[in-house]
Amino acid sequence: MARVTKSKTKQAPVLLWFRRDLRLTDQDAVAAAAESGAPVIPVFILDDSDRKPQRAIGGAARWWLHHSLESLAGSLDKLGSPLILRRGDAVETILALVQETGAEAIHTGFMPDPGDRATDKAIAEALERQDCRLHRHRTALLHDPHKIKTQTGNPFRVFTPFSKAFEAQVHVRPPAPAPKHLIPSTQTKSDKLADWELLPTIPWDKGMAEEWTPGEAGAGVRLADFVADAVNDYEKGRDIPGDAGTSRLSPHLHWGEISPWQVWEVVGEAKGHGGVATYRRELIWREFAAHLLWHFPQITDQPLRPEFAEFPWREDHAGETAWQRGQTGIPIVDAGMRELWALGWMHNRVRMIVASLLVKHLLIPWKDGENWFWDTLVDADLAANCVNWQWVAGCGADAAPFFRIFNPVLQGKKFDPSGRYVRDWVPELAKLPDAYIHEPWTAPEAVLRAAGVRLGVTYPMPVVDLAAGRARALAALKQATGRGS
Ligand SMILES: Cc1cc2nc3c(=O)[nH]c(=O)nc-3n(C[C@H](O)[C@H](O)[C@H](O)COP(=O)(O)OP(=O)(O)OC[C@H]3O[C@@H](n4cnc5c(N)ncnc54)[C@H](O)[C@@H]3O)c2cc1C
Repeated sequence: MARVTKSKTKQAPVLLWFRRDLRLTDQDAVAAAAESGAPVIPVFILDDSDRKPQRAIGGAARWWLHHSLESLAGSLDKLGSPLILRRGDAVETILALVQETGAEAIHTGFMPDPGDRATDKAIAEALERQDCRLHRHRTALLHDPHKIKTQTGNPFRVFTPFSKAFEAQVHVRPPAPAPKHLIPSTQTKSDKLADWELLPTIPWDKGMAEEWTPGEAGAGVRLADFVADAVNDYEKGRDIPGDAGTSRLSPHLHWGEISPWQVWEVVGEAKGHGGVATYRRELIWREFAAHLLWHFPQITDQPLRPEFAEFPWREDHAGETAWQRGQTGIPIVDAGMRELWALGWMHNRVRMIVASLLVKHLLIPWKDGENWFWDTLVDADLAANCVNWQWVAGCGADAAPFFRIFNPVLQGKKFDPSGRYVRDWVPELAKLPDAYIHEPWTAPEAVLRAAGVRLGVTYPMPVVDLAAGRARALAALKQATGRGS
């Protein structure tokens, strides 16, 4: 394709390449494109090529992306610059767009994922001998993941010192407003969003559609609701899955529909300030995950702790399928897995419980769990998902030790004492008294009968004996590392 010749009278456009930063407010790539004074071509590329180490997005995330792009396209239309959609290998697509449009600059977000970094490197190299530059702006994180270092200049592996260094080095900056106008460029060909077929053909997305409003406006409403209702009780409320005690901003943050600075700032304005520091700590966990992925990109597939490389995982197809379908016979686990399937989201406490059951009691590889979450979460995030799975499996940075094995029954009793969460998601147990809701197999036959529960018929028997599963996990740990505790 012939490169468009830049005429002296007509200013060359800039490409505004959106990635996981699908917003206009407090978005530095958007601001830089607007401030360039050049015509702006906003573009989003769906890269589902199999170029390594790129990872194609999962099913639930595709649903989110469709709606988020619809929302972004509407906002860009109002600014006068329509969103251009292209599908294909991101490197080839960007280079083709530069040729096609004569763009003199590309403004985009800086992403910590290995696939994005490889893409950027390839683009920057290909542009070396051209009059076009790639400008990466910090659009997804509070801080650049590689800039926080230990005193010896190394990456952090433990959260608390990372968070102290973070708070010492990173200074709050007020969020920037969205531009009022973008100079439109001449027409550039775009795919139609519907042709990308991001939405499921079998309609499993009803629960997601009821729960979420993807896009910048939906993110703003979610944040405002959280600040008005829940942030003051966050310290306690964040551990109770039956309450709306957390912000549920994770998919909005993952897709960059709201900037972490906006969230950081706005929660600070909450009346009472109760849970603000604890909440901001969670935002710093998000940064820590990005920091780890930046420095240890192998964590997407390999355990960070080498002693776990030869761990004696089991293959257990039946156990894994029961886990995926929310049919393990362990109520809190089934509730979580069904919430995940219905909403594309699961409460953090329950994510830890279900992950622990999979990797410890069932001894199924953490990668299998990570892959399932990747496909089913609307907030599936390479850094957060891999770091947290490795955290639960005891094989990552600052991980919970493997020998500390959650008992899902005790976790259920502690964090869902009235069984509200279980009753919501596992309605076949709804009539059981509180005393048995987390361990129906201990209920006397008459109690089960009165609640309409027939174990093994209306609700499964546990897929694993919890005491035996625990002992087997500890034996596996001893085999792998020589340590049983
Ligand atoms: C096995 C497992 C897998 C996970 N996979 C993901 C994932 O793919 N994507 C994801 O965003 N989170 C993941 N998490 C972290 C956490 O569960 C979710 O971020 C949280 O449940 C989202 O709900 P919320 O927005 O209401 O959180 P809030 O409690 O309101 O927290 C605010 C924000 O802080 C960030 N955050 C909170 N906890 C963590 C954490 N442990 N690690 C990193 N960031 C955090 C999120 O962006 C979240 O939106 C995972 C946790 C576990 C145990």
